[in-house]
Amino acid sequence: MMTLAAVSCKTNSEEEMEIKNLLIVVDVQRDFFDPSGALYVPGSEVLPEKIAALADNYDAVVFTLDWHPGNHCSFAAQGGIWPSHCVAFTQGAGLPDCFAKTLARGEKQVQIFLKGQESDKEQYGAFEELDSEGVIYNWLKNSEKIDVCGIAGDYCVKESTANLLKYVPAEKISVLVDCVRSIDDGSTLDKFISDNSLSKK
Ligand SMILES: [Zn+2]
Repeated sequence: MMTLAAVSCKTNSEEEMEIKNLLIVVDVQRDFFDPSGALYVPGSEVLPEKIAALADNYDAVVFTLDWHPGNHCSFAAQGGIWPSHCVAFTQGAGLPDCFAKTLARGEKQVQIFLKGQESDKEQYGAFEELDSEGVIYNWLKNSEKIDVCGIAGDYCVKESTANLLKYVPAEKISVLVDCVRSIDDGSTLDKFISDNSLSKK
């Protein structure tokens, strides 16, 4: 289902497109949304269907994936604060089946972006450093509106959205709060949204 080739795919100027609305789906992976997942975030089992239903309304969609080596520094066995989760190529790192239709739109409309691949580096934000010749950088620059959703609101959604602010103005960015679940009660993400004058949808 997943096309890893898309990750390093470059665009060229003739392929650049105007994007009215871009959807960014952060870490909606089995270990987070499945109640039997390694790092289940309560309430997030409803997100796959909700997000799949929305995705058709967007010109382009970016899925970020937490994608760790088995000895990642964030895992308890290495002294980190989290149980082992989203180990690369395991089921827990997978996307829900209901995203298949969106993924089938192909790499001109859908990109998958991996993060957390370095064993000694915690990485909550997916877009810390973007290649200015890469597809996602170009999509961010060419999008009129960018909506963000996913898991977990107080960690990877918040930090990935903070990363976006390096590339695009706040007025372009909205957080789809109904399609986000947090480990806390949502107050960390709410504060971040208001501190940065982002809109909520
Ligand atoms: Zn992780």
